[in-house]
Amino acid sequence: MNKERIIEQIKNAPEGMNLCLDLGWANGWAEDPQIVKQCKELGHTPRTYNLDPTMHGLDHEVICAKCGYMYHYDSSD
Ligand SMILES: [Zn+2]
Repeated sequence: MNKERIIEQIKNAPEGMNLCLDLGWANGWAEDPQIVKQCKELGHTPRTYNLDPTMHGLDHEVICAKCGYMYHYDSSD
């Protein structure tokens, strides 16, 4: 499943998705962005998608449908 399909599915999800914020790569953060901290405080469980299994599964995308953000992380770090 490619990224566009995933995003499309989330936008069409019953809970009503407001996917607007792409935070980029988590590996480059000095600390979590405010929205991610807030998400953790609220006890959400963002979904993680393995975007590219052919690339040894290193590119993951984390999406919280409730907060409306997404970011990538590279699990090779
Ligand atoms: Zn959240």
